[in-house]
Parts: sequence; C-alpha cells; structure tokens
Amino acid sequence: MTDVPSDMISFAGKIMMLSGIFHFSVTSWGRTREHNARVGGVADSQHLKWLAVDVVRDIDCDKQAFIDACQSMNLQVIDEPDHLHVQAGRPSPQ
Ligand SMILES: [Zn+2]
Repeated sequence: MTDVPSDMISFAGKIMMLSGIFHFSVTSWGRTREHNARVGGVADSQHLKWLAVDVVRDIDCDKQAFIDACQSMNLQVIDEPDHLHVQAGRPSPQ
C-alpha cells in the first residue's frame, strides 16, 4: 500500500481544523461513480477524488464566518440550497 496523496491529507486536515472552530457535520465525503451519479453529482465531482465534503451547520455556526475561514485555507465553497459544498482549492504552482 502506498502513502495517501498529500492533497488528500491536506484537505482532510483542513476540514478537521475547521471542526475545532465551527460546529458542523459532514454528510457526504468520498463517493464512488455509482453513488455520485445516484445523488446527482457532476461528472467530474471532487467527491470522486475525496477532495470535497458536504457540510451542514449547527444553528450557532455563522455561514459567512465559515466561508471566510474556508477561503483563508484555500478551500472553495459552493452555497447549495441545503448544505455547503467545500472542496480543495487549486494547488499552488510549484
Ligand atoms: Zn458536494
């Protein structure tokens, strides 16, 4: 077994860091192509690479503060009707 790719480790670490600041739950993380299709995910979804999570916030978790924190960590946020989709940002140029 090879090491977990660093982008996956980095992404998971950022989500766990956020969990120490905000009250939220992750309702979807990695997906198979089959499951992604069943739930209506886009064909090239970052969920397929385990580089996206869907988040539901507790009542005391301010949406804008959460989004700001994500963006400061180079995470992209899409505000969906019933959750926030959070995915890894573009890798910085080497
Ligand atoms: Zn999503």
